[in-house]
Amino acid sequence: MNEPLNRTNTFSVNEQQIQKWLTDEEGCLAFLFHKRWPQGFHCPYCRWQHQQLPPSRTVICAHCGHPSSISTNTIMHGSKKALSKWLLAIWWICANETETSAKNLQRLLKLSSYQTAWTWLQKLRMAMGTADNTACHGLVELGCAPVMPAWEKPNQALVVAAAETILPAGITGRIRMTTIERLEPSAINAFLRTAVTAGSSVFAPGLPAYREVAQEGYLYVVDAPTQNPHRAEQLIKSFEIWLNKVHRGGVALKHLQLYLNEFCFRSNSAMLPNMEAVFNLLLEGVLAHKPKPYRELVSTRIAKETS
Ligand SMILES: [Zn+2]
Repeated sequence: MNEPLNRTNTFSVNEQQIQKWLTDEEGCLAFLFHKRWPQGFHCPYCRWQHQQLPPSRTVICAHCGHPSSISTNTIMHGSKKALSKWLLAIWWICANETETSAKNLQRLLKLSSYQTAWTWLQKLRMAMGTADNTACHGLVELGCAPVMPAWEKPNQALVVAAAETILPAGITGRIRMTTIERLEPSAINAFLRTAVTAGSSVFAPGLPAYREVAQEGYLYVVDAPTQNPHRAEQLIKSFEIWLNKVHRGGVALKHLQLYLNEFCFRSNSAMLPNMEAVFNLLLEGVLAHKPKPYRELVSTRIAKETS
C-alpha cells in the first residue's frame, strides 16, 4: 500500500522498518519519493512543481512531457533493482563498519553479480563524500602525510587532513581528508576552501606549502616543531591503520578518495544522535549525487604515486 504523501516523513527508520520494507516496494517508493521531493515532484528538466502527484517510480511531467524516474540523477540512476535493496544497502553500510565487503553485500542483497555489489559499495562511498560536506571551523590542525595500502607497497599517495580541536577538552571534532598530487600551496589552498571555514585558525607546519594560508582568509599559526603529536598527521596514520585492518589493505591507490570519504563520514557521523540520523544523512548523499557508471569508477584518476 502506498503511504499517503504527508505521512511518509513520519517513518522512524530502524532495523524493523528496514525489514518491513523488504516486502513492501511501494512503501519504499513512497518514502524515497517524499525524501527526494518533499514539496511534491519537481521536474528535473523544466523545473515545474507538481505538488499533488502520488508517488510513482516513473513520472511523466504534465508540463514538458519528459519522463523522470525516482532514481534519475541520483546514485541509483539507471538501476532496475528493487528500491528496498538500496535502502537495505544504505542501512547496512551505516550500521556496519567492518565486514562491509562486496561479497557480503552480494550475499545480503542476493545479487547475482559481484561486480554490481562492488559498484554499489563504491557509489555509496561517493555518496558519503557528498553527504558529509560540513566544513571544519574554529581551531583546525592541518597536515599532510603519505598513505600506503598494504597491497600497493611501495607505492603511496599523499593525503592532506584537517581536524577541528574542540576546547577546552582538546578532543578531535569534525575531520576532512583528501588526496593531493603534490604538497604545494595550490593543493593546500584548494582543499582549505572546501574543508575549512574562512576565518578559522589553521595550525600547520612551517613549510612553504602552507605559507599562503593567511592569504586565503585563515589565521595561520605555525606549529612549533616540538609540539607533539600533530593531530592531522595522527589522523592520517589512523586512516592507514583502518584501511589495512578493516579493508585488509586490499584498496587500490586510484580508489583511495572513496575510502577517505568513508573514514571521514564514519568519524563525523559518530557525532549524530542515532542510526536513523546517520541513515538519513547518507540518503541525502545518495539522492543528491550525480551518477557515475562502473567503467568510470574503475578508471578513476590514479593518485600521485611515489616510491
Ligand atoms: Zn517538466
